[in-house]
Amino acid sequence: MPSTRVYLTTLVATGAISSQAHGNEANLIAETVLNEPALAINGIPFSTRAYWMRTANDALFEVLQDPCPFAAFGTVIVNHTAGGLGKAVCIGANSSGRSGNPTQHDPNGPYNLTTSEALGAFSELSLYTNAESCPMCASAIRWAGFKEYIYGTSINTLIGKGWGQIRIPSMEVIRQSFDLGPTPRLIAEVLTNETEPYFLWHTETI
Ligand SMILES: [Zn+2]
Repeated sequence: MPSTRVYLTTLVATGAISSQAHGNEANLIAETVLNEPALAINGIPFSTRAYWMRTANDALFEVLQDPCPFAAFGTVIVNHTAGGLGKAVCIGANSSGRSGNPTQHDPNGPYNLTTSEALGAFSELSLYTNAESCPMCASAIRWAGFKEYIYGTSINTLIGKGWGQIRIPSMEVIRQSFDLGPTPRLIAEVLTNETEPYFLWHTETI
């Protein structure tokens, strides 16, 4: 069975639990840990989630021409309304090492869209990233208004392997941003057996 971390809040519920009452009644916001191949969320099967998570990994090579850079954060933004597997809107990869801009340490795919494209489309788009975003990037995801935010390796795993990180999980960013309207569906730890090697190889003995 998939595990679900549930937070009791007074916030707007995610789509999956939108039947919960709004207003003054407490709602539940859930972060679903997706490791069950038979589970479909928002009508999208695990196999499709896995396909796009692999695409996020592959973005490292597509963008950086490096299949395994040191901080291997890759992303893809997908339009699932296109049917089938869905359609990639754009890809991105960590470029802070090349640009010197610390705000680009995480994938910056959202900003590759034109203004009109972004404003009109975010609420229908899903962002896949091979590792949980830092609070800065999670905030950007939240401000953008994505429909779904799907990540692979968790912040806790990164920290456990020696990565420096601000210890605020994406779920907390979403929980504290209820003024911004409908919350994205947060799907966690997708295909971690394939995303984690990108972040652990430099600390593991091979
Ligand atoms: Zn970040």
